Formats: sequence, structure tokens, C-alpha cells
Amino acid sequence: MTDIAAKMEADSAVYKTLLESTKAIPWKIDWATMKFAYIGPQIESLLGWTPSSWVGVEDWAARIHPDERESIVNFCVAQSQAGVDHEADYRALAKNGETVWIRDVVHVVRNDDGSVNSLIGFMFDINERKKTEAKLIDLQKELETLSFNDGLTGVPNRRMFDSVMEMEWANARRNSQPLSIILLDIDYFKQYNDHYGHIQGDHCLKQVAKALSSAATRSHDFFARFGGEEFILVLPETNEKSALTVAERCRSLIFKEQILHEKSQVSQILSISLGVGTIIPSHHDEPIKFIEAVDRRLYQAKRNGRNCIASSE
Ligand code: GH3
Ligand code: MG
Ligand code: MG
Repeated sequence: MTDIAAKMEADSAVYKTLLESTKAIPWKIDWATMKFAYIGPQIESLLGWTPSSWVGVEDWAARIHPDERESIVNFCVAQSQAGVDHEADYRALAKNGETVWIRDVVHVVRNDDGSVNSLIGFMFDINERKKTEAKLIDLQKELETLSFNDGLTGVPNRRMFDSVMEMEWANARRNSQPLSIILLDIDYFKQYNDHYGHIQGDHCLKQVAKALSSAATRSHDFFARFGGEEFILVLPETNEKSALTVAERCRSLIFKEQILHEKSQVSQILSISLGVGTIIPSHHDEPIKFIEAVDRRLYQAKRNGRNCIASSE
């Protein structure tokens, strides 16, 4: 062996050791035959398939998750034919049936005449990164749910109400349709807390919210915790007469719960007072003014003796 040949052999042994000791998995495919000329032995510890089982490009394709197999193969073939370096993320099928997220980074090697000679690349294990991404997406969804739902009762919160109200107000104005709202407030709830304790008070609020959730049944009807022990219903395309029917239903739903309230001055059973209002909004009306008007009706119901409904009728 000449000195040069010996040096080249020593060099290639170094390169091979380097390639096979990285976490990324190197591979090479000859373009003419579409066969693997090489794949790093690390592939076996990652996916369980021995290097010798990676014969042709069809073995690679067969080990891509069926959901993305066609699109990944088509993309990589098109990019390679065009002579463009590229990368693709996909789920590889491991021998034990599990899937592993892989990023394949591909370099197209060309002949002197520009035609494709071979593809060389690295497969990276991006499973942990993908799992982290999925967890982040879950957290994001959870955050959205938390920020639009009341922490205690689980029903939509005031913030959600504000968005829904703004949208329904605009719809009602555009379509000249009546929009109704019902404001509800528990009677003598301070006394309830004082007598049964705050924990029991919280439990009662949850029970009330759950019962009232089923009061309105049309698909665009909306129910939220307005704050404290007050709740609100938004009823699009609903006139005052229909809104009064829903308000009556609210009262009877709460009555049916038969929540004992010995310190209430109106009844031994927990009750609510309600204010109902309806509007066909015009350009000079404002949602806040409308809500305030309905709030005044709620206080009228309180003055009228509680456990009742106040409306314009
Ligand atoms: P009224 O019949 O006039 O409505 O009398 P009230 O005692 O219900 O009226 P008020 O609005 O003064 O009292 C509301 C009470 O609701 C006071 C407050 O401590 C209680 N409350 C508000 N939010 C919560 C909550 O999240 N949990 C509990 N346990 N109590 C709450
Ligand atoms: Mg109140
Ligand atoms: Mg109250």
C-alpha cells in the first residue's frame, strides 16, 4: 500500500467513526439505482430496523407513517429531481410498531453535467421536540379555555360575555332583530354565605350555574357568570315575551334544585331575582346603556320583594 493510499484509508476510517458516533444518522442513496449505498448503524438503535434491511428507497417509503407517506415521498422525489436540497419532518415507523418523529435533511449531489448523482442526508431524531410542541399546543388550548371560563363554575366568564355581546349586538343591529338579555342575581346570598360558610356558598354557586346552563336552548343562546352571584343570558333574535318565558324557566330550574336557605327572608328555598330587557339596537344605542337598563330592572325585582322577574311588560 502506498503512503497516500494508507493515509486515505486512515482518513476514511476517521470519517466513518465520526459519522457513526453522531446522534444524526447519515445515509446515501444512488440516484441511478434508487438503492441505499450506506446508512449509519445508529438507525437500528433508533428504529429497530438493521442497516442491511434498508435496501432501496421503497424501504424508506414503507417506514413512513401511512398518513403522510404519499405527500412526503412526492415532495422529496420532486425536490430531488429538481436538484434542490430539502428537509422533511415525518413519523417513521419503528420495528416495534411505535412511531418516531424524524427530520430528514437531504443534499442533492450532482454530476459534472448537472444530472443527479446521489442523495446524501442525515436523519435527526426530533421526537422530544415534537412532543414538547404538542404539549405547548395543549397548554395553549388550556390557557384559552381558562381565560374564557369562570374558574369556579366552569361556565363562560365575563370576558367571554363581553365578546359574545359585542358580536350579537352587531348582528341584531345589522339584521334589525330583537336581542334580549336576562340578568339574574341570587337572593340574600350574603346571608347564605354567613350561615353556611363560604365553601358551601361556592358549592351553591356551582349548582346554580349548572342548573341555569340548561335554561336557554337555542343554538345562539349564551349563558355566563356575570360576576359574584350574578349570571347573564344573551338571547339573540328573541322578543321580550319569549325572553320572559326563559326567565320563568330559570326561576323554576332553581326552585327544582331545592337548595335550602334558612336565612332567606323570602323563602326557605334558595331563589333568584331577574331583570329582562329587549332591544332592536339602532346606531345611537350602546350595549353598556342597555345592560345598565336591565340591571335597573333587576333591582326593581329586588325592591318588588325578590324571587320575581322585572321587565317592561
Ligand atoms: P340580594 O338579595 O339583594 O341580592 O342580597 P345579596 O346578599 O345576595 O346581595 P349582595 O350582592 O350584596 O351579596 C352578594 C354576595 O355574594 C356577597 C359575596 O360575598 C357573595 N359572593 C360573590 N361571589 C362569591 C363567590 O365566588 N363565592 C361565594 N361563596 N360567595 C360569593
Ligand atoms: Mg349581587
Ligand atoms: Mg344577591
